[in-house]
Amino acid sequence: MINREDLAALDKADPLANLHDRFELPDGVIYLDGNSLGPLPKNVPARVAEVVQRQWRDDLIRSWNIHDWDRLPLSVGDRIAPLIGAGPGEVLVGDSTSVNLFKLMAAALELRPERKVIVSQSGNFPTDIYLAEGLIRQLGDGHELRLVDGDDVLGAIDDDVALVSLTQVDYRSGHLQEMANVTHRAHDAGALMLWDLSHSAGVMTVDLAGAGADFAVGCSYKYLNGGPGAPAYLYVARHLQDQMRQPLSGWHGHAAPFEFETHYRPAPGIVRQRCGTPSVIGMSVLDAALDVFDDLDMAAVRAKSQALTGHFIDLVEQRCGGHGFTLATPRDPACRGSQVSWHHENGYPIMQALITGCVIGDFRSPDILRFGFAPLYLRYVDVWDAVTVLQRVLADGSWDRPEYHARAAIT
Ligand SMILES: *Cc1c(COP(=O)(O)O)cnc(C)c1O
Repeated sequence: MINREDLAALDKADPLANLHDRFELPDGVIYLDGNSLGPLPKNVPARVAEVVQRQWRDDLIRSWNIHDWDRLPLSVGDRIAPLIGAGPGEVLVGDSTSVNLFKLMAAALELRPERKVIVSQSGNFPTDIYLAEGLIRQLGDGHELRLVDGDDVLGAIDDDVALVSLTQVDYRSGHLQEMANVTHRAHDAGALMLWDLSHSAGVMTVDLAGAGADFAVGCSYKYLNGGPGAPAYLYVARHLQDQMRQPLSGWHGHAAPFEFETHYRPAPGIVRQRCGTPSVIGMSVLDAALDVFDDLDMAAVRAKSQALTGHFIDLVEQRCGGHGFTLATPRDPACRGSQVSWHHENGYPIMQALITGCVIGDFRSPDILRFGFAPLYLRYVDVWDAVTVLQRVLADGSWDRPEYHARAAIT
């Protein structure tokens, strides 16, 4: 049985240990919710000050040229590209993940006009499903959303399918899809493949090019630590960029936005995915947040993530066994992302008690306690200490206080 000293020894040997100091983490807090909102990187406030108090204040409108503000969607996209197996000019930053899903799903359906089916999972993140429903309603052209329960996605892909739209790591269970396998199957059936990387980018090696994926989207405020509401990103494989159109034909995706032509002409390449004016402050924050990933060995990040999640599973079972937790996450580290989720009938109040005890995870309806493990700033001893708090709130029954049962608007 592993103990705290063993975990402290792992911290000593951890090649990523020094990255902890790159983040502002409140004293005493064990932050297991970087999959919902990454913490503040220490270099971000200075960048915000630079953009706001110097570029905006002093250089005003000239900043669009002087400080390359207009290139941020591309330049920040090029920094995300290596994290997701994309090349330069294949990733664009902007809009939200939801909006980017709409743009790419619409483009995909237009590329496969003779096919009417989008395949996804009923357990996919709701916005991914809702946007498909909204798009289908708007097209009014007899499209169908085929939702698969569970993991039998492959069985649902046939010759009617235009697009397979999946999230690589399930936000509830942490189940990791076999990206290459599913993508090949989609292509064999003549369908296009879209991946949502919101819960995978930044904690593991993602290889869109290796899998041959067509499209991808992702959040940058989760494991990429880009800050609340940070602009999202999208990926379009280079060979599709000039064949496809996107429905939000705003002026920033025009071939010559400052010619102010009467009619829309799409820009070549990834630029046609732009819509309106980029959010400069948000993109600059994300740009600074990405510094920590420069030259980072993502294989080491993945290895640490698997070790952290594995120890957490073992320790909860050893120290909190008999308290009614059922593991919702795959036990095989190769089949999970960087989170551990447990079903528990009192999941909500237990999580509130943990948060009061400075162990911050989150709750996902109907009964899931979700703990995200970000290897950049978590220590192995944090795993031990988090389980200590969990053990305490269970043993002393403090989780059952009435105030912990009252649901907040945001869980
Ligand atoms: C977090 C998340 C989103 C969020 O989309 P927003 O438009 O940023 O609100 C979308 N999809 C998945 C899979 C997510 O995990």
